[in-house]
Amino acid sequence: MTSKPFDIIIVGAGIAGLAAAVALKAPGRRITLLEQSRLNREVGANISLQPNAVKIAKRFLGLDSYLFGDASIGRGVPDKAFLIYGTDDKLHMRIGLETDQYGEDRICFHRVDLHTGLRQAALDSGAEIKTASKVAKVDVDAGKVYLESGEELTADLIVGADGIRSAVRTAVVGHDQGALPTGLSAFRTLIPIQDLQGIQGLPQGVELGASQTLMIVGRNCRLVMGPSRGGTVLGVVGLVPDTEEIKGATTWNMEASTEDFLKSYEGFPEWTREIIRRSVEPSIWQMRDIAPLPAWSKGKAVLIGDAAHAMLPTQGQGASQSFEDVEALQYFLRDIDASSSEHEVQQALAAVYSARHERASLIQAYSREQAKPGTSASGKVTLNPREFMDYNCKYEGVASWLAQQDSKARKQPSVSSASVASAPVSVLTS
Ligand SMILES: Cc1cc2nc3c(=O)[nH]c(=O)nc-3n(C[C@H](O)[C@H](O)[C@H](O)COP(=O)(O)OP(=O)(O)OC[C@H]3O[C@@H](n4cnc5c(N)ncnc54)[C@H](O)[C@@H]3O)c2cc1C
Repeated sequence: MTSKPFDIIIVGAGIAGLAAAVALKAPGRRITLLEQSRLNREVGANISLQPNAVKIAKRFLGLDSYLFGDASIGRGVPDKAFLIYGTDDKLHMRIGLETDQYGEDRICFHRVDLHTGLRQAALDSGAEIKTASKVAKVDVDAGKVYLESGEELTADLIVGADGIRSAVRTAVVGHDQGALPTGLSAFRTLIPIQDLQGIQGLPQGVELGASQTLMIVGRNCRLVMGPSRGGTVLGVVGLVPDTEEIKGATTWNMEASTEDFLKSYEGFPEWTREIIRRSVEPSIWQMRDIAPLPAWSKGKAVLIGDAAHAMLPTQGQGASQSFEDVEALQYFLRDIDASSSEHEVQQALAAVYSARHERASLIQAYSREQAKPGTSASGKVTLNPREFMDYNCKYEGVASWLAQQDSKARKQPSVSSASVASAPVSVLTS
């Protein structure tokens, strides 16, 4: 091995960037994360890792002790069931999420806890995190990163994990591929379970703070609730059509009022409205995504996470797809070090795209599909999250995925899913 390290710069220390630092750790590599913020204001909201991501976190990234269980930093709560109700309080569907179904549980986190656990894992793996370091421009051929401060850094590999408004994506794609408004926004709040005592009229089977995710589906609005922090907190997300206020807003997320949250949920059962009344510092977010990209890498740079395939949160797959990306990077770059040629690095990055693009694009499209009205005009719940669960959650890592694709192609040389994946999201969902 040469004495010069293989230098990796990861732009963005969000969920994808921190997970990438852990995944890419190897002897002879030096990993630096550049983060624009001071990492002291991660959003207060819940987030779940789906079984596909939990398998990767445990088996390929060694994150067990950082994220899972009450004694870990992440304090993730396993979710044993997904219960879907109509606004008439009738149970429409129960999707069991027991471990034996997908190989691991779905795990719910307070976003701050997930981020803190990942940050500690990245630091323990030897990565350096430079905060207040906003990247202004990237030269993908020279491997140069220019910070807003005027500082200039050079790397053998640049990983763009800088989210939906990625600066690295602009350099890779060659233009600013903007995020697309979807017409949807989401109210979000976190409520301590102790503040939810005495709520009457919960439908049979509903227990606030228990290991279950609840979805109450109206035609254009739905409420999703689940636990975090060892079941001490209930996270509530309310998906609604864009409000007039948010349409005119210049920021993507802002403070919201409990009154506006309640107004969107007129006609919802009284017990759900009582939960909304007890919201703590509710906020509202515009929901945007991007169309599938023609490439995720160019020169020495590669995109992962929301920078590569931002999607609606309707399947809770955004962060989970980032875990799939970093495991693919780990796999295809396993033999790359400072002695590797630029061509070898580029080939490895191209292999990540060809292994991941179809699947990530389909999941983007499914997420749009799941955002369509949740009931028929007569109010019957039509939403069926189950239809994509097997595809999403049975994933076991990129090597087994490629083996499966290979065996399918030999049995049935069809290109139907590939052509679906390469179609624009708008076509898939029109
Ligand atoms: C309402 C809502 C609910 C969601 N729920 C779920 C869920 O339950 N499960 C799930 O899997 N996903 C969920 N998601 C999606 C998930 O949050 C994202 O997919 C995930 O956070 C993507 O991570 P990321 O690291 O790619 O991007 P981000 O989390 O956006 O991180 C990007 C990082 O890069 C930094 N950065 C940006 N630009 C620069 C720059 N120029 N220089 C330096 N640093 C920069 C940012 O400060 C940030 O820290 C949800 C999203 C929303 C909006």
